Amino acid sequence: MSTSAPSQPDAPLVTRFAPSPTGELHLGNARTALFNLLLARHTGGRFLLRVEDTDSERSREAHTQGMMADLRWLGIEWDAGPDREDDRGPYRQSQRGALYAQELATLESSGAVYPCFCTPLELSLARRTQLAAGKPPRYAGTCRELAAPERARRLAAGTPATLRFRVPRGERIAFTDLVHGEQSFSSDDIGDFVVRRADGTAAFFFSNAVDDARMGVTLVLRGEDHLTNTPRQLLLLGALALPAPAYGHVALLVGADGAPLSKRHGAVSVREYRERGYLAEALVNHLYRLGHSSALHGLLTLEEMARAFDAKHLGRAPARFDEQQLQVWQKEAVHRLDAGAARRWLTEVLPRGLEEHAVAAFTAALLPNLLLPEDARAWVEIVFGAPPPLEPEDAELVRAAGPGYFAAAAAAAARDGSDLPAIAGAVRAATGRKGSELYMPLRLALTGRTHGPELAPLLKAMPPGKARERLARFA
Ligand code: GLU
Repeated sequence: MSTSAPSQPDAPLVTRFAPSPTGELHLGNARTALFNLLLARHTGGRFLLRVEDTDSERSREAHTQGMMADLRWLGIEWDAGPDREDDRGPYRQSQRGALYAQELATLESSGAVYPCFCTPLELSLARRTQLAAGKPPRYAGTCRELAAPERARRLAAGTPATLRFRVPRGERIAFTDLVHGEQSFSSDDIGDFVVRRADGTAAFFFSNAVDDARMGVTLVLRGEDHLTNTPRQLLLLGALALPAPAYGHVALLVGADGAPLSKRHGAVSVREYRERGYLAEALVNHLYRLGHSSALHGLLTLEEMARAFDAKHLGRAPARFDEQQLQVWQKEAVHRLDAGAARRWLTEVLPRGLEEHAVAAFTAALLPNLLLPEDARAWVEIVFGAPPPLEPEDAELVRAAGPGYFAAAAAAAARDGSDLPAIAGAVRAATGRKGSELYMPLRLALTGRTHGPELAPLLKAMPPGKARERLARFA
């Protein structure tokens, strides 16, 4: 059997993101979701969200809610999903039991599956023996040829049983992977796999493939770790006479050391980045370029990404998540925040009860220097708090400028408020100083630091009278 990628690359695609809600939304999964969204939008198709929660032990509703919130925060919206049902739903696998039962019954009646009574212990021993002999672990087929009366006897006795798919022997399974090109597998290398667990729930290979077909998915783009699952799923769909989607498997995300991105590398969930103050625009711009080469530079909107997204530009090499590169996007995204968005972004660090114009002046002064909201904390203290202390060598610089310097500066501040050119002009006239000789003592007296945001807007952000008071200290 064989299937291939869609022949018309721009035909409307139905794509999906199918997370298992067993943890937080990982950056790698967020990228998969993004690419699927972009493929659907690029072709004017549909993007679905399906929650794969058949493993009731490990699935949590809180994770489903968290993932949906993270996706929405990134701007990744689905056309149908658990909270936006349509006639292809329900979009939670835990609610699709009746549908799976129907398909399983079809497989049972055609003899494509058989009950397997092997216990987990027996299976794990067999596995270990195969591994020890240097063979790939594969179900040995113990229950495949069980005589019908024996099968019936065990079932009647209530012996726990899984249901396994009878993989046909001597077949080739070929498909064209959107990323990896032509693929060909021998069915003889595939062991009979479980389609229904002993507790009666549908197993991953089965529910995942059946749902793609039943939901009308035409392209499955997912992580490379699923590439070898695809031939099994094609066999299943063939046995059920269901349409197979096209498949593409994207390279995994790796950390700076080349190992798969994991907690060892630090923050790997979307939530962690959001909570640290990374902006969604920055994160999606970095994810967009991971494993997908883009000719477009600069910060892109999702609409621009969708227009430009090209499945032919998906690379096979592992894609490196690089926080420094993310920070480049973050700087650009911060730069573009409007006053309202900047205020919301800095809510945690801004003093309570600040008037609108004061917030606007503060954010205007600070934004060009910020990467994360946390970086503004020290400046909140400097601008709104007590006079900042000086390092000994800086105190010396200030003293050396002399009382005349500061008397002129304070008088100008009293007269002209927070107008830096007026203050600097008065000091220049009084002292003849220029350049950094002129500005550094002002900066030190006002902020306590030799470096920081541009001084003129910073002065404007200070509460009235504050500049004069700080300058007058040294007059
Ligand atoms: N629930 C599977 C996972 O999270 C889905 C894989 C797929 O996209 O088909 O890995």
